[in-house]
Amino acid sequence: MHPQLELLLQIQDLKSQRRELADADNNQLEQLEFHVDIEQALTNLDAKIEEVKGGLEPRIRARLDRIVDRQQRAVVPLINGTCYGCFTTVPTANLSTFSSREQLHNCENCGRFLYSVQG
Ligand SMILES: [Zn+2]
Repeated sequence: MHPQLELLLQIQDLKSQRRELADADNNQLEQLEFHVDIEQALTNLDAKIEEVKGGLEPRIRARLDRIVDRQQRAVVPLINGTCYGCFTTVPTANLSTFSSREQLHNCENCGRFLYSVQG
């Protein structure tokens, strides 16, 4: 897997974890029961997200910031030639370059980062 893609997936995972925690914050009972300092946990997650983002190439980071402005998932799987972000079929001309691990690919329709689950 492209090393930058691994970072993107890490960031996506951290962000979804953050959303779950932020939602839990509304539930005071849960907070008391588990003695979780959610504010501190969110701060830790934010710091970790920034840390991982620091490893991204500037142009990839800029694109990521553009995508997450509009959408929650910035990285989606490509399965059988279909982008699972917008469910548009990616042209086969683009698929031929997909085996290359040197390049990051983006869906032409929704702009999300794509990763191939076929390996
Ligand atoms: Zn798409």
